Amino acid sequence: MERAKKIVEYIEKNFDQKPAYNITTNGTLLNEEIARFMKKYDFKVMISIDGDEREHNLLRPLKNKEDSFKKTIEGIKLLEKYEIPYITRMTVTKFNQDFDNFWIKYNFKNIVRAFVAPEDYTLLPDLREYNKKIESYISGEDKTISGIILSSINVRKNRIKNKNQLVINCFGGVREVSLSADGNLYMCHRATGNEKYYIGNIFKNTHNEIIKSAYKLFNKIMVGIESEKCNKCWARNLCGGGCHLKNDLQKTYPEEIQNYFCDLIKLEYEWAMVLLSKEIINKVTV
Ligand code: SF4
Repeated sequence: MERAKKIVEYIEKNFDQKPAYNITTNGTLLNEEIARFMKKYDFKVMISIDGDEREHNLLRPLKNKEDSFKKTIEGIKLLEKYEIPYITRMTVTKFNQDFDNFWIKYNFKNIVRAFVAPEDYTLLPDLREYNKKIESYISGEDKTISGIILSSINVRKNRIKNKNQLVINCFGGVREVSLSADGNLYMCHRATGNEKYYIGNIFKNTHNEIIKSAYKLFNKIMVGIESEKCNKCWARNLCGGGCHLKNDLQKTYPEEIQNYFCDLIKLEYEWAMVLLSKEIINKVTV
């Protein structure tokens, strides 16, 4: 925490433009003092929570192997007490794939989910199950699907409806960067600690050096998106080539893993088109 304070002091002193502070944490170390500090500097917090008590403790044990769920919930309560904006983020694996009930039970307001990006299939959720879940909702068979899945498909549906092309999926590395406690800057939160995506250090490099290094790395990584596979893909202008960091990290992964995420994106777009067609048909028949 002392380091985080030093970093904030440094930024406040050296930059005219007020930055937006975001922090990703499991919330287990939050206390009143830290909460007051976050409130003072308008932090936005992303809390990693991977399901209900059993799944979360299995997937996110503390360093000493103790359970973390209760501490994470206490951390969330503290954020609520100080009215600090937060998002809960779930990393979906095959161990917590049935997360609908969990969100309903705790009624977290802002939720996002991302599928795990592993090197092999051991953690990946089953896409057939995911497909069935969406299908049963859209066919009207099951109304219990959580808003979180639906919101992801709705975002895609609206992109098609509004003809919003997505040429680049994310500007991580140029519009936002990740800052570690030692002052190192990385392309994005996913890249934190990985030397390959290091762009400088706020205590050692000048502002200009950091900007130059960030653009150089971003342009280098983005070349991966111009791949033949993406250019031939029907979803190219909707997907934007996916997460450039993930693409780069997965270059050496087995082809099935690389295809998994493309299959996931395309699956959601296919369902988005079904939803949109239903919407249009309903309009015409009313
Ligand atoms: S779905 Fe896969 S192949 Fe298609 S544009 Fe996106 S990243 Fe490229």
